[in-house]
Amino acid sequence: MVSYKDLGLVNTREMFKKAIEGGYAIPAFNFNNMEQMQAIISACVECSSPVILQVSSGARKYANQTLLRYMAQGAVEYAKELGKNIPIVLHLDHGNSFELCKNCIDMGFSSVMIDGSHLPYDENVALTKVVDYAHQFDVTVEGELGVLAGVEDEVSSEVAHYTRPEEVVDFVTKTGVDSLAISIGTSHGANKFKPEQCTRNEEGILLPPPLRFDILAEIEKQLPGFPIVLHGSSSVPQEYVKIINTHGGALKDAVGIPEEQLRQAAKSAVCKINIDSDGRLAMTAMVRKVFVDNPAEFDPRKYLGPARDELKKLYKHKCENVLGSAGRVE
Ligand SMILES: [Zn+2]
Repeated sequence: MVSYKDLGLVNTREMFKKAIEGGYAIPAFNFNNMEQMQAIISACVECSSPVILQVSSGARKYANQTLLRYMAQGAVEYAKELGKNIPIVLHLDHGNSFELCKNCIDMGFSSVMIDGSHLPYDENVALTKVVDYAHQFDVTVEGELGVLAGVEDEVSSEVAHYTRPEEVVDFVTKTGVDSLAISIGTSHGANKFKPEQCTRNEEGILLPPPLRFDILAEIEKQLPGFPIVLHGSSSVPQEYVKIINTHGGALKDAVGIPEEQLRQAAKSAVCKINIDSDGRLAMTAMVRKVFVDNPAEFDPRKYLGPARDELKKLYKHKCENVLGSAGRVE
């Protein structure tokens, strides 16, 4: 048993409280490798933002869970070395069983998500009782009500349904969760909506249906001051899609959530916003560019380096211009 406190990590409680009071959201960035971790930490240190390092079960399989844990511990020291002791959470994204959550808690995670959103309501409540174990170690838990569409690692759903505001008080009371992920129209992946769900602007770029701020407002009314989480909140920058597609890629009809809508959400009780696909797009765009522009290149540092630089730029932009989390650490 390793306590996250010994690793220098924090849970989400204090962070979310400040975010709600301050009208901003904490970035939750997924990581699977060293370059992503470096980009996240250096960006957040430079703009003085708290951060949630997010690990999916896919990441655990890809990178090895022990290695990821030590990388998170390293991230704390790396931030200090860069000059700022920013609060860092190590969070399990989309935990699907008690065993997985327990395993992460026992290994030093400071926060876990238990996702029973695809289950019937009562089974979701029962599964989310992972809270009882987590709270013994002061680990915070995120639950979910409502189903997002889209594909994310091993999480996928064909049909989405919005969170039902009439269920949230009962769910939070029965489970004791510390935060709640909701479904108001965000979606996993880089193809968040089918073209027929969208309209096109004059440049032919797809514009998705707007988020359901009416549902968010109703949830806030039911749970005043309670931390709300948005998954699937990448904006799918079209400049990256363009670079990818003009450098040998084939991303069709990629579409995300406009940043303006996320900016609006961040000012509400939404205090954690998950961004993964945008980082994947940034890295892929830069790697493709190097390969096309310089086919003789074979040093991984020469393509992962530019990918890391672009990723850092993207993350800083998110903290400064979208989530409002920049400048929130003394
Ligand atoms: Zn998610």
